[in-house]
Amino acid sequence: MKNLLGGKGANLAEMNLIGVPVPPGFTITTEVCTVYNQKGKDAAVSLIKSEVEKAVLYIENLTNTKFGDKDNPCLVSVRSGARVSMPGMMDTVLNLGLNDLAVQGIAKKSGNPRFAWDSYRRFVQMYGDVVLGMKPDNKEDIDPFEEIIEHLKEEKGITLDTDFTPEDLKILVVRFKEAVLRKTGHSFPDNPWEQLWGAVCAVFDSWMTPRAIYYRKLNGYPEDWGTAVSVQSMVFGNMGLTSATGVAFTRNAGTGEDIFNGEYLINAQGEDVVAGTRTPQEISIIGSKRWAILAGVTEEERAKNYPSLEETMPSLFHELNKVQEKLENHYKDMQDIEFTIQEGKLWMLQTRSGKRTGEAMVKIAVDMLAQGMIDEKTVMQRIDANKLDELLHPIFDTDALKSTTLLAKGLPASPGAATGQIIFFADEAAKFEKSILVRIETSPEDLEGMNVAQGILTARGGMTSHAAVVARGMGKCCVSGAGSIKIDYKAREMNMAGKTFKEGDWISLNGSTGEVYEGKVQTMNPGVGGDFGKIMGLADKYTRMTVRTNADTPNDARIAREFGAQGIGLCRTEHMFFEGERIKAMREMILASDTAGREKALAKLLPYQRSDFEGILEAMEGFGVTVRLLDPPLHEFVPHEEANQKQMAKELGISAEEVKSKVDSLHEFNPMLGHRGCRLGITYPEITAMQARAIIEAALNLKARGIDARPEIMVPLVGTVAELKNQADIIRATAEKVFAEKGDRIDYLLGTMIEIPRAALTADHIAAEADFFSFGTNDLTQMTLGYSRDDAGKFLPDYLSRGILKQDPFQVLDQSGVGQLVEMAFTKGRSVKPGLKVGICGEHGGEPSSVEFCDKVGLNYVSCSPFRVPIARVAAAQANIKHAK
Ligand code: ADP
Ligand code: MG
Ligand code: MG
Repeated sequence: MKNLLGGKGANLAEMNLIGVPVPPGFTITTEVCTVYNQKGKDAAVSLIKSEVEKAVLYIENLTNTKFGDKDNPCLVSVRSGARVSMPGMMDTVLNLGLNDLAVQGIAKKSGNPRFAWDSYRRFVQMYGDVVLGMKPDNKEDIDPFEEIIEHLKEEKGITLDTDFTPEDLKILVVRFKEAVLRKTGHSFPDNPWEQLWGAVCAVFDSWMTPRAIYYRKLNGYPEDWGTAVSVQSMVFGNMGLTSATGVAFTRNAGTGEDIFNGEYLINAQGEDVVAGTRTPQEISIIGSKRWAILAGVTEEERAKNYPSLEETMPSLFHELNKVQEKLENHYKDMQDIEFTIQEGKLWMLQTRSGKRTGEAMVKIAVDMLAQGMIDEKTVMQRIDANKLDELLHPIFDTDALKSTTLLAKGLPASPGAATGQIIFFADEAAKFEKSILVRIETSPEDLEGMNVAQGILTARGGMTSHAAVVARGMGKCCVSGAGSIKIDYKAREMNMAGKTFKEGDWISLNGSTGEVYEGKVQTMNPGVGGDFGKIMGLADKYTRMTVRTNADTPNDARIAREFGAQGIGLCRTEHMFFEGERIKAMREMILASDTAGREKALAKLLPYQRSDFEGILEAMEGFGVTVRLLDPPLHEFVPHEEANQKQMAKELGISAEEVKSKVDSLHEFNPMLGHRGCRLGITYPEITAMQARAIIEAALNLKARGIDARPEIMVPLVGTVAELKNQADIIRATAEKVFAEKGDRIDYLLGTMIEIPRAALTADHIAAEADFFSFGTNDLTQMTLGYSRDDAGKFLPDYLSRGILKQDPFQVLDQSGVGQLVEMAFTKGRSVKPGLKVGICGEHGGEPSSVEFCDKVGLNYVSCSPFRVPIARVAAAQANIKHAK
């Protein structure tokens, strides 16, 4: 029904069917909109003219009025409604059918000239704005009607709209119409039929405005949906003190509390409640009292000036309460409703499932399950997995946010809220108790500083930039690619929004929105209460895939386990090479001129690696831990600034020139496609051997302590089976050697990442040498699309805003392109090895639509950063419920 009648029209009809009082009306279907867009106005109008006339007659009969009559006119509203609500697409026109004669008729019939002229004034204004194009093109220009209103208020010395007399309102109507004639060259239409068709066509036109087109593109809604138009007889909340209008929620949309709440205004119409010109009042006594406390209003003042509907119109409040209960029970979801009271009679004007916060989403779903309204599978479908993020990170106090200045906007790279003092160099992050690390971009050297800082802000880099990926892994707030900020490392200052900020100045980051604020903003910890746990329990019940985590430290592994991760899908070993003494040994290894020199340095690294692996395998006891062998190009481990090179030369006891020439020799034009991954292990087999030894020894040590360690050794960046075979031989030989030395064995798996298109294409060959595949979809995306992850930031935003790409392929798996490679590699791999274990460890492993894709393909597991584990668990369960159907 929604497809034809739009969300609004369908729900109006449905409310009417279940006996909720709705003003009579009819809806012109979305199909007519399509005709209008394809064949033009005349074709659409002639198609529906006689039906619309019949429908108007039907309204006239039910309301005992006549459309266009001067004594007893029928007034209607014209409302737009797409299948899904499209904010700001088109405004409603109210009180349509009025003209200079009909307004007299209404005044006489109601005995309330003020109401009649107030309605007429509103109509001319709305129709002028919405249909006749009187709204200024520029945001900065004032609405001509508002200007006229302001002038008249000045002339009369009044401040509130409600202080206008009927005479004043008459003057407004005259002046409004003059303004219309001046601007459009046409007089305001007096003929109600002309008005009606004008409004209907304006709604159709609104479907093709640039704003609507942009919104559809953004959300992937097709153009041929079209919008419906509902024409409905008016009910009036502006008829005096026994009339009112309001909006309400059947439960609290912020907290999920099961309590009916909303706002209303007496003697008001339409959007007055949300327009902010008058202070709206709460509908229930409880709500009203709570509001008064927050607003600092005394109980006496509240009761006198801002009483609740429950107090002013108790019987209507109870009637409304019954209706909201009925609606919620009918739709079995929290409803956002609009109502109007006309001279003591209640009318419902809209109902829809209400938007809500992550916290409310969880609570409402769990409560409704307990209340027997919905079943477990429905609960799971009600959870917007991405929204769970809100529950997992600290957040800003919303009240505190209101009084701060927005300085810049970047990408919401890693959610959460952070406040701290600006620091420009990672190694100085501990200088302040709370620091925000601000960098043009970060590099692996900055790791420790990033960990110490409260949050990270970068001027360059996208959602998969180093800063973003590492921050998400750490569960640390990060805003990346805030292009408008200018950083001067030398002067230790930066410029944002025209202001200069020095080291030590306070700023705040919202990693969920990408916003950067001035000064300290209070943060709070969101409550991850029992309801959240219940959702997680259901997720496990309905899932097929398991969820692993990407973790490089025992601490990350423990956090992820608490969030329900069952294993590690990606443990990056390179991060283990940066701390303290390790980087020295690493650099020694890089600088060594022969195998013996490298082996000597590697022997120093071995104990560090072994103990890291022990920690991680222990933290994940009983679950598989996939350890990726060294992956990044070696230049990332050596300093590029002269001063640091000198320092390194001193530490290693060699000349600065030697260091410099080695660093220069490591230079590559395309390091991401250069000497990295298994290519390193092939040129330097001793690196692979050392890492394999460290992993196997760690597992044997744990076994000796009675701990169930399950290592899975993963070879990165394989493109041909020969590469894998080469590395596998080294790993297996090393393992056997260690087993012999220790006189004990353990089971381990040996597999590879599938991240080079050629590996996907030849997956049947590769599977012969592998126990498992793990799709490294970051690199696979990079290489399939030919976008460098590090440089795509220069054009991706353009691609997205022009609709060339619907989504950032580094965030949301490109299912039709990269996805084909995933599917093909999966099928080919399983064709030669039915028991092949297959997972995904790219950033996509925590993104719900990509998780759904992985379930459809048939992967065993997805792996994502620790803080996204709960999201992936829910997404995996949702996918299974969907695909199991
Ligand atoms: P939106 O899509 O922006 O919510 P609506 O079509 O719901 O627009 O209209 C906005 C407001 O106009 C409604 O909330 C209601 O207060 C008022 N309104 C719409 N139709 C009528 C009507 N027939 N009688 C009285 N008020 C109406
Ligand atoms: Mg509405
Ligand atoms: Mg990779």
